Amino acid sequence: MFLQEHFNIVFNNLFTITNLPVGRTKIHLERRKLYSSYLQFLESHFNSSTLEHLMCRDQLSIDYLGNVYDCDFNQMMNLPAKNRNGKTLTVSKLVEVGSLDVISEIQTAAYCYGCTAGCGSSCGGALLES
Ligand code: SF4
Repeated sequence: MFLQEHFNIVFNNLFTITNLPVGRTKIHLERRKLYSSYLQFLESHFNSSTLEHLMCRDQLSIDYLGNVYDCDFNQMMNLPAKNRNGKTLTVSKLVEVGSLDVISEIQTAAYCYGCTAGCGSSCGGALLES
């Protein structure tokens, strides 16, 4: 209402995205001693219904060197995708073997609770209807 009244801005397609505690957000939270409580908040709102919709299940993130990650957050946190032998992967390796099945499993970390809390979160907004 405020934005409409003062700036004539009306939302007709609103994306809601959780602030994952990585990068500058993590630094910001740590400086204010809020990092642990924010993580606990996300964890306490874990919703298993979000799991099948997580963007890391059907998307990849590639850095400028061709290294493969399960998502942009993992790229930001330098947590690369790995094969079953624990070796990191590149686009050229994926092309060489002709399959994404060489990726052993999605690499996860505590910040994944940001994608799985409540209605979930992704680059396309919430994962579930509220
Ligand atoms: S942060 Fe974790 S849950 Fe979210 S997309 Fe990346 S790997 Fe998946």
